[in-house]
Formats: sequence, structure tokens, C-alpha cells
Amino acid sequence: MSEYEVVIGLEIHAELLTKSKIFCGCTTEFGGEPNSHCCPICLGLPGALPVLNEKAVEYAIKAGLALNCQIPGYSKFDRKNYFYPDLPKAYQISQFDLPVCVQGRVDYELEEMQQSTGITRVHMEEEAGKSVHSGDNILGSDFSLMDYNRTGIPLIEIVTEPDLRSAAEAKAFLEQLKSILQYIKVSDCKMEEGSLRCDANVSLRLKGTKEFGTKVEIKNLNSFRAVERVLEYEIRRQRQVYEQGGSIVQETRTWDDSRMITVSMRSKEESHDYRYFPEPDLVPLEIDLNWVRSLKEGLPELPLAKKHRLMEQYDLSSMDADQLTTDQEMASYFERTVASYTNGKVVSNWLTGDFSRLLNTSGLEISKVKVTPQQLAELLRLIDEGIISGKQGKDVLTEMFCSGTAPEQIIKDKGFEQISDSKALEQISADIIAANPQIVQRYQDGEDRLLGFFVGQVMKETKGKANPGLVNALLREKLKATDS
Ligand code: ADP
Ligand code: ZN
Ligand code: MG
Repeated sequence: MSEYEVVIGLEIHAELLTKSKIFCGCTTEFGGEPNSHCCPICLGLPGALPVLNEKAVEYAIKAGLALNCQIPGYSKFDRKNYFYPDLPKAYQISQFDLPVCVQGRVDYELEEMQQSTGITRVHMEEEAGKSVHSGDNILGSDFSLMDYNRTGIPLIEIVTEPDLRSAAEAKAFLEQLKSILQYIKVSDCKMEEGSLRCDANVSLRLKGTKEFGTKVEIKNLNSFRAVERVLEYEIRRQRQVYEQGGSIVQETRTWDDSRMITVSMRSKEESHDYRYFPEPDLVPLEIDLNWVRSLKEGLPELPLAKKHRLMEQYDLSSMDADQLTTDQEMASYFERTVASYTNGKVVSNWLTGDFSRLLNTSGLEISKVKVTPQQLAELLRLIDEGIISGKQGKDVLTEMFCSGTAPEQIIKDKGFEQISDSKALEQISADIIAANPQIVQRYQDGEDRLLGFFVGQVMKETKGKANPGLVNALLREKLKATDS
């Protein structure tokens, strides 16, 4: 059987986090009554003229810079003509031959291997509206309703080079891209709300050949899982077609979730089908390169760099560092915690362990968590000082998570304080030893495991509050002493 090589290129749309739309003052807020966030400009009413939102340009350039792109000093907008009901003007203002950012690169890791994917371009465009079809799907639908609230929200489209070689690589690249866009705060990248969307181009070629095979474009992969699953399916499908001696036609396909297959939507449109021409209502962009330089200087430390710095600085594993840095909020939480409790490895264990578990089960975003980094640091100190055990610490954290109460208070309220007073423990131990002479004898005759019996008795007597390390040491000492 022949060996095929997979070739994938992605086109990603991200909604920018500006307060107002790209060419008018309407709000970009999510939701709202249908058609309540609209005006003559974003509805494309005759005579209404667009005015470019400067913030949108700033965010697009910041994204380009974070993706290692070149920013040309000159850029322009073009009309992309097509008539779908979700596009009230019957054209979309986009960018064709002179996009705002070109020739970038994203570095990321897949199973600890360094990877790099080229970015062909990043261009700006406006979001379309939303069709709401009656019935279960568009084919059996009697009518459709239109909501133009999203129309005119600024988007960037990021186009990659055909550099990706597997579905897993595509997913890892996308995760890094999302993380970068969130770090620089230009998009919230919520795939479930549609603010990050991905189309994938896939082809196969025989290993060793230079030319690319015919590609198929798959539209609207709206979760990381979908990206991986759909690409794997499409790769299998194309391989089968080739193995049976068939050929792939260039087309656009979509994922059918009920049948778990990709189905043909339409034959591929070419760019001339869109009759692109320069947008006459907007002047071209002349970009001040000093402004670009200051935007570049203002970029924060990006996720991969932060990951490696934290691994180095706190001796963390690659997996833990990934878990801490993928989400900028988590990374910031970690850094604020280590600012008041310096053992990064301990902080990492708590954050990637119990803290993450609590986040998952509560469904909370980190920014909404009531436990402050200072309180977490305080909890870790109380454990170090032996005031409570690590196990009790987990219960205290759960309580802190629910109520936001300070750890000292919870420990008091719950009577969690460990007995670390050796005088008190010594008395209890002595009583237990005196009450069990036979077991003492057996222990002293060599049944070492019986130490556990005495520890257990002390814990029972103190209702689990005795400091276990201290009890162990005390008992060992006392049981030895009665021997002599
Ligand atoms: P189109 O003219 O169809 O828009 P482009 O050359 O502009 O195609 O590429 C669109 C996307 O498809 C890019 O992400 C690119 O990397 C990817 N791509 C191009 N050719 C192939 C191919 N043969 N196989 C897979 N992906 C491809
Ligand atoms: Zn508007
Ligand atoms: Mg193209």
C-alpha cells in the first residue's frame, strides 16, 4: 500500500474585542434582542458610509505582531461580493491583495517536539449576520429569520501556509493560536460563541512527491475536538478514494454531525467569483511604523516563552507548565501566588491538581474565583507550619472556593487545627501505651507494623487532629524507651 503524506492549511476567523463595530458605533456586546444592535451603516442602508474603527486596526496589528508577521506600511480594504441573506450589503468589506499583516510564523509544541507553522497573512474584515432556520436543519426548513446584531463586528482572518502534517498538529497549532490571541487580549476566542472559527484545507500526496494534491475545504469546525475528529475523518476518506483509484475533486465540504461524515456543500469557488474590487468608501490605510513599533514593545510575554521561563525558574514539568500557561488567567494566578509563597512547584501542584478540579466541577472562570492568590499562599503556609495536614488543606481549599472565606477562619470554624502541642500528645501516647501492654510487647519483639495501631489510637483519641508526623516520632521514641 502506498504511503500518503497529509497536507493541511487552516483559515481562522477571530472576532476582535473592540467595544464597537468595525465601521459604525453599534455595540459588539454578545446577545441582545435580535436586530437591536444595528444601525443604517451595519445594515447597509443606501447612502450610509463606513468609518474605520482605529481600535480594530490596532488589534489586528497586535495579532500580526504576536504571530511574527511583517506589517506593511500600506494596506487597503476591498469589497468581496456575494449574496447571502446574512450579508445585508450583498458584499463584505474585507482585504484582498494588501492585507494588514503578512509572512508570520507560530511556534508551538506537540508532545514536546518543537513545531513551526507559517502564517501567510492576517487580514481584517467585517462579520456577517446570523440566519436562524426553522426546523432542524436548513434543508427541511420552511423559513429563516435574520439577526444582524453580529453584522459588522470586526474580524481578523488568519491564513496559514500548508505546513501542517496531521490532525493532531492542526489541533496543537490552533490551541497555541488561541492562547496567543487571548494573552494579547484582542479576542476572547470562545469557539462555542463563534468568536473563533476554523476552516480547514486538506489534501494528500504520495510521500516524496513535490506537488500538492487537490485540496478539499471543510467549513466551520467549531471546537478543538471537531477539528481533530473531522480532519481525521477527511484524511481517511481521501486515502480510501485514492486507494480505490479515484480522484479528489476540489470542493467545499461540511461536517454532518448526525451521520459523523463530511458531505459536499458546493464546488469550490475561485477568488474571481467574488469580483473583488477596492472599497471606494474607505481611504487606504497608511500605517505609522512608529505606532507599530510601540505596539510591538507593548506585547506581553507570550505563552510559549512563559512556559519555558516557568519550567526553568520553578523546575516544573513540561506538562504542568503547559497547564499553567495555556490560559493567561491561570498563568497570572500562578505568578501572583508565587509572589507571596515562593515554592513554585508546590503552587503548581495545587493549581494543576485540586484547584483545577474545583474550577472544572464549578464551571467557573478563574477571574470569578473567590479565593485570592494571597489566600492560597496563606493556606500553603499553614500546611507547611503543620497547623493543618495536607489532606485537611484540600477540604479547606474546597471551602475557600465556595465561600471565599480566609483559610485561618475556616480552620477555626471547622476545628481543623492540628494538635502539634507535644506535651498533650505525649500524655495521650503514654496512656495508650499503658493500656495495651501485650501489643507493646509484640511490637518490641519485632512486629514493626504495630506502630500503626498506636498511631491509629492517638488519632482516634484526638479526633484526627493530631499532627501525624509528630505522633509517629513520639510513639517510636516512647515504645523504644519502655524497652530499656
Ligand atoms: P484558495 O485559492 O482556495 O483560497 P489558497 O492558496 O489561498 O487557496 O489557500 C487557502 C488555504 O488552503 C491556506 O491555508 C493554504 O495553506 C491551504 N492550502 C493551499 N493548498 C493546499 C493543499 N494542496 N492542501 C492543503 N491545504 C492547502
Ligand atoms: Zn451599526
Ligand atoms: Mg486564497
